[in-house]
Amino acid sequence: EPIDLGLFLHDIIDRFEMIAQEKHITFKRKIPSKPTYAKIATDKMTQVIDNVISNAMKYSPEGGNITIALLHQGHQLQVSIKDEGMGIPRESQGKIFDRFYRVDKARARSVGGTGLGLAIAKELIHAHKGEIWAESEYGKGTTIFFTLPYYAMKEDER
Ligand code: ATP
Ligand code: MG
Repeated sequence: EPIDLGLFLHDIIDRFEMIAQEKHITFKRKIPSKPTYAKIATDKMTQVIDNVISNAMKYSPEGGNITIALLHQGHQLQVSIKDEGMGIPRESQGKIFDRFYRVDKARARSVGGTGLGLAIAKELIHAHKGEIWAESEYGKGTTIFFTLPYYAMKEDER
């Protein structure tokens, strides 16, 4: 059964909001109010989004903003999660989706994790026929993008 990806995102962000406040991190939501449907395994998609938001929080300074946007572009939905954190050096940007890869061992050690989160996210997004990638400027911030096929709801089911 297709679900409204916008509502799904709101629920996940709501769940993170309390912990984020402790680090003075503010979530900005750019999510259309009009329902946008996708066919997803909700437990798996929760795992993907949880990891990407956790990363954004882990690698962000106190007081940063995290902007979560949902765009509907033709047959695709695009989700982006943008932070104002430390960023990822260009040479590492292709590797962060590899199993156990963590940027700069010393830097990574100070923040917990195994380096599996994004590798799992990539597998799960591919299983949903989507793509996932990163754009980052070292020292300025990171945006993780992923796409999912849009599910056009039949008129009579609305
Ligand atoms: P895990 O998710 O398994 O707990 P992790 O967060 O270290 O561990 P990934 O989520 O796979 O692993 O991320 C891989 C690496 O990519 C991280 O260790 C970090 O170096 C880098 N990274 C991921 N997201 C960001 C981000 N938003 N800003 C800066 N660096 C990031
Ligand atoms: Mg992670």
